[in-house]
Amino acid sequence: MILEKQKTRSPRWQKILSQAITNPQELLNLLEIEHFLPDDIKTVMAKFPLKVPRGFVAKMQAGDLHDPLLRQVLPISEELHWQEGYSFDAVGDQAAKKMPGLIHKYQGRVLFILAGSCAINCRFCFRREFPYADNNPGQKGWQKALDYIRADPSIEEVIFSGGEPLLLPDKILASLAHKIAAISHVKILRIHTRLPIVIPERITKDFLTWFTGTRLKSVMSLHCNHPNEIDATLAKALLRAQKAGVTLLNQAVLLKGVNDAPEILMALSKKLFAAGVLPYYLNLLDKVQGAAHFEVPLTRAKQLMREISAQLPGYLVPKLIQEEAGKSAKSVVAF
Ligand code: SF4
Repeated sequence: MILEKQKTRSPRWQKILSQAITNPQELLNLLEIEHFLPDDIKTVMAKFPLKVPRGFVAKMQAGDLHDPLLRQVLPISEELHWQEGYSFDAVGDQAAKKMPGLIHKYQGRVLFILAGSCAINCRFCFRREFPYADNNPGQKGWQKALDYIRADPSIEEVIFSGGEPLLLPDKILASLAHKIAAISHVKILRIHTRLPIVIPERITKDFLTWFTGTRLKSVMSLHCNHPNEIDATLAKALLRAQKAGVTLLNQAVLLKGVNDAPEILMALSKKLFAAGVLPYYLNLLDKVQGAAHFEVPLTRAKQLMREISAQLPGYLVPKLIQEEAGKSAKSVVAF
């Protein structure tokens, strides 16, 4: 009887997730920050609510309103300012949608939109306005997506994306992974995720078992923006994934007031590498409405790249990347 109960208990990461902070005043109180929330906070929150797991908050500096991790999650009035040149579909997802839940934008790979929410709401997110409700076909709809992949032998890589794909239970993800592995021309399964960065407990034994348990090469593309996001618990979890055979990459976003300084970018690359992760992309901000206050001018971005390239070995220097709607590939920005 006891054994039966233990079997059905939900994983610890789900409990941690259920305790995430969603109230901005509670967040400020926890950090002992005296700051009046703006009058329009409800409007900002109605467009894109606050959500941040407590473990991520624990990595923030108490008393510092300008903490780089806090800046990534605290809703502010600037998000309501309309900005010329910014849109609601910054990277052209809608035009590349083949069916609900499947985006085929680039040669050789497709994106499965598996979940319509995340473990953390990043204020700069390029999908903050993405119509997830129209893109959640559910498990029945996935069958159509699998048929699409099966019918196109040029597709060699399937990417689980979202929202946050790792919000789905391992049992469901494992079943989908096995169906994809049964399509002979697919060689790589990649997961785009920020969940392990904010809840390292998500790297469970069950997860690693199914992710490395098919004939597909397993790649996890993480999203970590600041060295303070990496603590010993996270590093240990990532090294466990690496040891299990997962190739770990990181895509950061260059964000004003978060990581737009050479020493921060260099520390990020070094800490990632020590945890088994290659820092492969530094993305320029996707121009989504509500995120313009995070933009780092292109000239400054190039200067930062020159500075870090002069001091780091090549494998620790991420490529500076720009994604533009309608282009057939992301562009590498020369500096
Ligand atoms: S985790 Fe990724 S998809 Fe989710 S809000 Fe943050 S940037 Fe957007």
